[in-house]
Amino acid sequence: MNYRGRFAPSPTGVLHIGSAVAAVASFLHARAHEGTWLVRIEDVDEQRAVAGADRAILDSLARLGMVSDEAVLVQSQRKAVYRQALEGLRQRGLVYACGCTRRMLPAGGIYPGTCRAGLRGRPARMQRVRVPNARYCVQDLWQGRYCQHLAQEVGDFVLLRADGFFAYQLACVVDDAFQGITHVIRGVDLLDSAPRQRWLQQQWGFAEPVYGHFPLVLAEDGRKLSKSQRDRSVDLEAPADILRFACRHLGLQSPSIAPLAQMWREAEAAARAAWVESACNSGFF
Ligand code: GLU
Repeated sequence: MNYRGRFAPSPTGVLHIGSAVAAVASFLHARAHEGTWLVRIEDVDEQRAVAGADRAILDSLARLGMVSDEAVLVQSQRKAVYRQALEGLRQRGLVYACGCTRRMLPAGGIYPGTCRAGLRGRPARMQRVRVPNARYCVQDLWQGRYCQHLAQEVGDFVLLRADGFFAYQLACVVDDAFQGITHVIRGVDLLDSAPRQRWLQQQWGFAEPVYGHFPLVLAEDGRKLSKSQRDRSVDLEAPADILRFACRHLGLQSPSIAPLAQMWREAEAAARAAWVESACNSGFF
């Protein structure tokens, strides 16, 4: 198999332990399958991107021993491609302008499709995609089958935002296809994006990658670790500590303390044993 995986950080801060685990997971999964591993900087939301964070993340990855096998793709440089992809959907009648403000939406609810029938005098603010009244599913490597009814659970989602930036869902799907990604290995917080990403892939006629969503590293209080928080048990300056922590978190045999290159060899062997050679592929959790 011509395996191609990726790590796609948003440069909103330095690499924290949660994102380091995501990098290690995607890297080990790719290496276990003798695949190619790519890094993509997801700075499509330019308001949240922090100047210099992309460089800092790449430097941290390199210190850990992970370097993209091909040139790093940077989303802020790909707007023309995203615009074309959006136009492709518009020509098929799937995209419409929406003039609703946040205040007009049901609190925390699903967008009810108010502007499907036209703007009715409202100025256009964003572009939404018309989702089908159907369930879409992905067969996740570790989470099993995961389905969402797109109309009932997601609603017509935004592809081009009111601030003029393309939405993550569009950029991610377009770039996974452009980069020929066969395996998307990432944290389970993104599982609920997978069914709509699968549907978008089908609309554009893209190949459909395999998904694997691993559990998040949680803070001590059980909440999601934010970029500002630190897990005190891991020294972010110590690559060996991070690699051992990531392996334990991913349910892999933790490498012994040794020179980093040797630890990576052990980690790759452990990943191969758990994720490629094991008959049931259930050694994760
Ligand atoms: N850029 C996203 C993040 O940093 C990851 C997106 C993905 O892996 O699909 O959370």
